[in-house]
Amino acid sequence: MDTLNWLININPNYLLAGLITIFYSLETILHTPFKYEKRHGHLLQNLLFQIPFFIGTYFWTFFLVFSVEWLNNHQIGLLHHITIPYWIKLIIGVAMFDMVTYWFHRMSHKAPVLWRLHRVHHSDTKMDSSTFFRSHPFEIVTFGIGNILTAAIFGLDFTALGLYYFIFLFIAYFEHANFEFPGWVDKTIGLVLVSPNFHKVHHEQDQHYTDSNFSDIFILWDRLFGTFKHRRVKEIMYGLKEFDENKKQTFLYLMKSPFINIRRIHSDEQSGSQKNETDDKMSAQAEL
Ligand SMILES: [Zn+2]
Ligand SMILES: [Zn+2]
Repeated sequence: MDTLNWLININPNYLLAGLITIFYSLETILHTPFKYEKRHGHLLQNLLFQIPFFIGTYFWTFFLVFSVEWLNNHQIGLLHHITIPYWIKLIIGVAMFDMVTYWFHRMSHKAPVLWRLHRVHHSDTKMDSSTFFRSHPFEIVTFGIGNILTAAIFGLDFTALGLYYFIFLFIAYFEHANFEFPGWVDKTIGLVLVSPNFHKVHHEQDQHYTDSNFSDIFILWDRLFGTFKHRRVKEIMYGLKEFDENKKQTFLYLMKSPFINIRRIHSDEQSGSQKNETDDKMSAQAEL
């Protein structure tokens, strides 16, 4: 338990900095079939999100820890009324934080006001470990409320929440990393955990795929609640069509984007318009 307490008390900023250094270096050194230009510029734009995120989490974490500790001290939640070993409570705790986050994530795709914040994460037209950083800082409130609700329903303490975030950080880098993961990863790790190939489907422009694979740690939730989809990674077009311009990929634009009315462009809509353009060209040629 001492080791566990030591792990969850590591300053998350050290973990964030250490992991991005390792993953970004590996992505540079190792051969990857998914190449794109201006990689360092892309990293810089995504790293800038850490500034408001750092300030936001500094204040929000106090509220989160206070709320979870208060609920725990008042014995609120199901597991306070069941006698089971503490380590089992921890495993259940991590799973339940992950399950409720799954539903809050799913809700963020459905509710227009939440989508305005969440689309920032989906806006990235390139994909590497730094994509994990690209989230609007206000989203910590959405998912933080989910965490507090989970602690209140299931009776979970701060250790379970800390362990959940510790595992989440590793998976979050892993699932966005710009490596080609072999099929056996999906058939082994992917039976239990979210594999990188699964999460990348979630970043596909086509909404049929964007609205799938919502899980963060356990892929079980997508399989159980009917949102699991598969697509070959090499066929994936990342990002959102309405953000597919260089000026809409910058930190400043993305930070203010939740307050801008941006109409969602569906892929069939664009292929329809492309088809119309083609038809238009053909009829124009016929007229000539
Ligand atoms: Zn999403
Ligand atoms: Zn993602």
